[in-house]
Amino acid sequence: MAIVLKNRTSAKETEVLRLLHSRMALPENQSRRFSNLTKGWEGEKRFEQFLEAMHSDVYVLHDICLEQNHSVFQMDTLLISEKVVWLIEIKNYEGEYVYDSGAFRILATNQEILNPLYQLNRSVSLLRSLLTKMKMPIPVKGYLVFVNEEFTLFQAPVDMPIILPSQLKRFLNRLSQTPSSLNKQHSQLADHLLNMHLPNSPYERGPDYQYEQLQKGIVCLKCSRFMSRKNIRTIMCKTCGFEEALDVSIIRNVNELKLLFPKMKVTTPLVLDWCTIVDSKKTIRRVLAQNFVFTGDNKHRHYGDERTATECDPLLPVSRF
Ligand SMILES: [Zn+2]
Repeated sequence: MAIVLKNRTSAKETEVLRLLHSRMALPENQSRRFSNLTKGWEGEKRFEQFLEAMHSDVYVLHDICLEQNHSVFQMDTLLISEKVVWLIEIKNYEGEYVYDSGAFRILATNQEILNPLYQLNRSVSLLRSLLTKMKMPIPVKGYLVFVNEEFTLFQAPVDMPIILPSQLKRFLNRLSQTPSSLNKQHSQLADHLLNMHLPNSPYERGPDYQYEQLQKGIVCLKCSRFMSRKNIRTIMCKTCGFEEALDVSIIRNVNELKLLFPKMKVTTPLVLDWCTIVDSKKTIRRVLAQNFVFTGDNKHRHYGDERTATECDPLLPVSRF
């Protein structure tokens, strides 16, 4: 069976971009990244679920970034099986493309795009030389896998390591049925690669942003527009009609703040400024005190982790409010 040793980090990246998307104008490259991540997420998830259900023994490593010969390279998915290391690049392209004398073009406009096979070949060759250096004589096979069902590639050559959406099921079945049993060497190889992973690679670096430049307010969970007050206990979205209890919304926004600004101290004035439509300092202080662990005295209190259901502060008279 498949053992997942490293998960993808995109969930967090997607969430940060989603939050920023409503509050600032993202730079063009980040905006494209955001739409790719959200569009491709479903296909990628399906692909991951299938891998996890595989019968043959493999180690699965998602989103691994390594350096070899001063070159940094990012790999979507590595499968370490008994006889082969599979390097799989996942693409979420949507629409009609044509493969024409070594180039990928958008069918409608004939515009050439960066050939994803170059990236794959580069990663395969860097990984091969890294494994040779590590004295791990296991072959590497690379595949470009298109997961979006709305993708078509005309004139795709049959001898290219390309898996189209219509071939995906067969490809995964073939992987699953390839006999494989792992030993100590394989687990050492996986450990080595995990230890070499560069967590803060340029590939994982998100957009630059500062607190001051973000639009403040409470963003709707459903449609990402800004919400307004309905009454003392509820806020609502005038665009889609979504309603949320005020306390729940404040907790959600504190968690947003912590995700976007992990180094910032969460204080009552900060949350007041961030939420904007909640004008009661008292309400914010109560929600923070009831739901987050705090440090500092009454005047300089700041809040850390969200409390678990069992944690409760005996000094805090909850009924006071
Ligand atoms: Zn909404």
